[in-house]
Formats: sequence, C-alpha cells, structure tokens
Amino acid sequence: MEQTKKKTVTVQIERFNPDVDSAPHDETYEVEAEQSDRVLDLLNRIKWYQDGTLTFRRSCGQGICGSDAMRINGRNRLACKVLVKDLGNHIRLQPLMGLTVVKDLVVDLTPFFAHYAEVLPYLINDERPPATERLQSPAERERYDDTTKCILCAACTTACPPFWANGKFVGPAAIVNAHRFIFDSRDRGAAQRLAILNERWGVWRCRVVLNCTDACPRGIQITDAIEQCKRAILAENV
Ligand code: SF4
Repeated sequence: MEQTKKKTVTVQIERFNPDVDSAPHDETYEVEAEQSDRVLDLLNRIKWYQDGTLTFRRSCGQGICGSDAMRINGRNRLACKVLVKDLGNHIRLQPLMGLTVVKDLVVDLTPFFAHYAEVLPYLINDERPPATERLQSPAERERYDDTTKCILCAACTTACPPFWANGKFVGPAAIVNAHRFIFDSRDRGAAQRLAILNERWGVWRCRVVLNCTDACPRGIQITDAIEQCKRAILAENV
C-alpha cells in the first residue's frame, strides 16, 4: 500500500543555540519515513537516533495541546498534524516568527501569553448565581462557538505581519479569546474587553491579511471574529 511505503526525506532544520551560536544556521538530516508519518515523527526520530541536542516542543501529539507549532515549508503548522505525504521529499522546519528563539524550534511565548491575559479571557459576572446553571439558548451559544476551539498554539499571531512589525499588537489569538467571552450571553465584561481592543494596539492594527485564518489548525474563522469585534466597538454594543 502507498501509505506504508518508506522513503528517505531530507529534513532541513533551522538551528540556534544562544550559548554557542551568534546567528541561526540550517542543519540537514536524512530520515526514513512512511507516507503516513507526521512531521513530529520525523523530529522525534532525529532527536532519538541522530541528534539529541535538537530542541523542539511537543506534548499531546494529537493536535490538542498546541505545543508543536512551527514553520513547515514556510507555513505555520502543527508538527503533529502535517503528514509526510502532503510535503515533498525536502522539508524545511523553522521556528515561529515574531518571538525570540530560545533554542532551535522553541520560541519564548511569554509575550504571546501576556497579550492573551490582557483581554481578560475568563467569565466576568458578579451577579448572584441562579439556583441552577446560567442557561443559554443554542443560538446564544452559537455566537461564540467557533472561538471556543482555540488551543493557544500561537500559529495565528506569529503569522501576522502587523505583529511582526510591532509585538505590542495584541494579535489574533488574543482577539479570538476576547471574542469567546464578549459574545457569551452569560458574561458581563464585554464593555471592558471592547475598550481594551479599541486601544492603540488592539483590533485596529489588524490589516486583514488573512494569514491568521490560514494558519489556524482548528479552522477558526479568525478574521471574521476580529471583524465582529470591530463592529461591536463601532456599534458600542454586543
Ligand atoms: S486561534 Fe487558532 S491559530 Fe490562533 S492560537 Fe488559537 S488555535 Fe492557534
């Protein structure tokens, strides 16, 4: 079967060790791979059998934790979701752009999570809780269903040219997570979040490049969510 046929794949990886390197450089590995292997399988094989110094993040390996986002042949993707059969025999791996490289394919996500925290990504409601759950209709739930899917992988924000230009921009992932609560009928913090998004480094920095939507491994319609936030600010209501 085609799926199990093995081939040799050249994996070109951008390496950088701040302890010894003054600049990044590429190193190349030849790896035996099956068509059904994922890029993460190749990385594991290189680390376990060829070069234990190679550094990258991974955790669940199932597209849920969002740990292994990186540039794969120039596009932000999760290494655990991209199959060898969908790439050529030459695969280039690079760290995400716009964040400081800690080592090899690992970037410092501190600024990314700081922007996430800025938008108050939690339910705000000081009203007395009802005797049972805070009920919500299917239509009310539908308004923010798409943005609940975010796994905070950072693929969108690090694919965003306005974020590359200035890391103060809150970025698409933070806006997605603001949207998730702004449009939740149980939440009372929408005005606060919209005021934050209306600031200098908020939604108006978005230039609708659409890289974010292309990069999202969860298929979230990020640009739509950003536009909904912009419209809510202009309408001064949700
Ligand atoms: S919106 Fe998509 S690409 Fe951005 S952090 Fe969430 S899951 Fe990742």
